[in-house]
Amino acid sequence: MLRFKSLGSGSAGNATLVEAQSNGSASRVLIDCGLSISELSARLAELSLSLTDIDAMFVTHEHSDHVGNARQFALKSNRPVWMSQGTQLATQALSWGLETSQIQTAKDHEVIEIGSLKITPFTVPHDAREPLQVTLTDGTFKLGLVTDLGHASAHVVQALQDCHALVLESNHDSDMLRMSKYPSFLKSRISGPLGHLSNIESANLLKNLLNPNLRHVVAAHLSERNNTPQLVIDALCPVLGWEPNELIIAHAEHGCPWVTLE
Ligand SMILES: [Zn+2]
Ligand SMILES: [Zn+2]
Repeated sequence: MLRFKSLGSGSAGNATLVEAQSNGSASRVLIDCGLSISELSARLAELSLSLTDIDAMFVTHEHSDHVGNARQFALKSNRPVWMSQGTQLATQALSWGLETSQIQTAKDHEVIEIGSLKITPFTVPHDAREPLQVTLTDGTFKLGLVTDLGHASAHVVQALQDCHALVLESNHDSDMLRMSKYPSFLKSRISGPLGHLSNIESANLLKNLLNPNLRHVVAAHLSERNNTPQLVIDALCPVLGWEPNELIIAHAEHGCPWVTLE
């Protein structure tokens, strides 16, 4: 059984908990730690979990809404933190004061095994030093997770094939962004090829990821200023052929309920 839960999603802080259960034991990975440690601990406590119930963390890139409190997590939990070499350099992770073995190097398409969970990182176009996003599997089900993506490269589309569930960025509505009070450099950055996916770009990516086994889609990393859940529903549901309530929208603060594949 594979299940996952966003604990928070968006520019204020991202964290996604993924759990595989096999023969009565659970393997858990936290993807990103943009939340404060007290918030993270509180959200885990609501799930009857503590920091040490997490077996490892994966940091996708150095932006603060993702790396956030990864250092504090590692110091408190003593668990390993995986990230690309570029992210290590950008975050000065080797100076975090951790045991040397706690910082592990993730590479494109090198599978990481955490108990019964297998994580496959893949390179994505985004304005960070060496950003990676991931797919995860328990050997039966495949979850694709991509929260910060400038555009859907062929490499990304290939990595996300045959997923049973997707957590997919649907960052902004292009018109709302264009009309917003953001400075023009920021509008260009967000809408550019190394920024974030618009609702339409997300829908176009989704068209290339449809497969008979796709059961759950969580729209993630919505801009609080330049998007609305209804606009995301209007863009993504027609592609999926789903009713509006079948699409899950990750809330900035509360994330989403557990999504279970079994
Ligand atoms: Zn980012
Ligand atoms: Zn982000």
